[in-house]
Amino acid sequence: MSDRLSHPIFEKSMKKTHTILIPSMLEFHMQLFESVLIQDGYKVEVLKNYGPSVVEEGLKHVHNDTCVPALLVIGQFIDALKHRDDVDKVVLIITQTGGGCRASNYLPLLRKALKKAGFGFVPVLSLNGSSLEKESSFKLSLSLIRKLVAAIIYGDELMYLYNKTRSYEKNKGDAHNLAKSWFKNLSGQFEKKKGLSFKDIKKNLYQIAESFDKLELDLSEEKPKVGIVGEIYVKYSSLGNNHLEEFLVSQGAEVNVPGLLGFVFYYLHNMVFDYKFYKIGKLKSKICSFLIKFMEKYERVMIDAVSKTKFEPMQKFSHTLTLSEGFLSHATKMGEGWLLTAEMIELVQTGYENIVCTQPFGCLPNHICGKGVMKKIKEVYPDANIVAIDYDPSATKVNQENRIKLMLEIARENIEKRKNQEKEENLAKKQAATTISE
Ligand code: SF4
Repeated sequence: MSDRLSHPIFEKSMKKTHTILIPSMLEFHMQLFESVLIQDGYKVEVLKNYGPSVVEEGLKHVHNDTCVPALLVIGQFIDALKHRDDVDKVVLIITQTGGGCRASNYLPLLRKALKKAGFGFVPVLSLNGSSLEKESSFKLSLSLIRKLVAAIIYGDELMYLYNKTRSYEKNKGDAHNLAKSWFKNLSGQFEKKKGLSFKDIKKNLYQIAESFDKLELDLSEEKPKVGIVGEIYVKYSSLGNNHLEEFLVSQGAEVNVPGLLGFVFYYLHNMVFDYKFYKIGKLKSKICSFLIKFMEKYERVMIDAVSKTKFEPMQKFSHTLTLSEGFLSHATKMGEGWLLTAEMIELVQTGYENIVCTQPFGCLPNHICGKGVMKKIKEVYPDANIVAIDYDPSATKVNQENRIKLMLEIARENIEKRKNQEKEENLAKKQAATTISE
């Protein structure tokens, strides 16, 4: 316990003795983050405890008005601590974007809940770029940032290609096994201090794309293409969204979840906008502009690697950035802000006109940038078939899934309508050609 503060802090020496517990989210990326941090000398563990006890602990230790992401993350931590016998040798880490919404208060909220549950002695770290509680912030060196960016790029490409193939594989489990073999391969490279230089990343990204391109697929049936957007935790965490991706695939859909790199770009661009709009943070804005350029270099390689395959590559973020114009200002940056709107438009434009917008119940920023713009998106893109689903411990899974099934029904009807229209158009063309030749 520090003299100055009323809560325990993470001391440098704990790097060797304490295990950092990370809440689960983004299955693909977290495995890679875990490997990168271990390679950097940390002891790390991504939590895998799911189930009703997590929700129960969350509801017991935070007010039920609290945002669902906080409730679940805190519930998962407390549930995990209750089942460990090394609680005096663990540290908890949470990510915070800062800004005006309740995410900035997650740290004190977590500490309060820990005290209430009898774990007030456990130090908490915050991963944020907004100078929130500097003494509790996880320090990121330039070299670690570079490695984490590499892990994000690998995670994004693997997640994208996995989703592109898993609904069409001829041999069940092929896509999953391939992704698993890449995690093993990349972790092995990280252990040998490889796989993190630009040259290695480029080589790996091309090989990953090529390996997924070789998977045997059955592309004979047109499946509804569904995009998932929303608040970052419920969008990416199967604990938060009741295993939404699995459910959609089980219903015969192809899924597209926008990558994490987009969120990082969004975060960095917001700092640039802060200076542009309000003249706040000139230095931060310059650093962020530099980081944007740095990451664009990696993004280019990933897109290029995927474009060498039969799969449509992802869009550049510099394009995504422009899509919310005319819908929302770039000054709308609480929660997922303008990114949520831009991602929905990008999905519709790239053929994923069916969208599940995941909303933590009571999340004001996402209700504005998600639900609030749906009417306008549907006016501009009449084919858009968007459903907003609230995620809340009191919301029933059956109800959520029934609403998604309804959206999928409309998606299937739209496929049929399009096919019939194409048939009619082809027939009309043939008849016109016959008439001319006669
Ligand atoms: S984005 Fe929404 S869910 Fe997340 S902290 Fe802010 S208000 Fe809560």
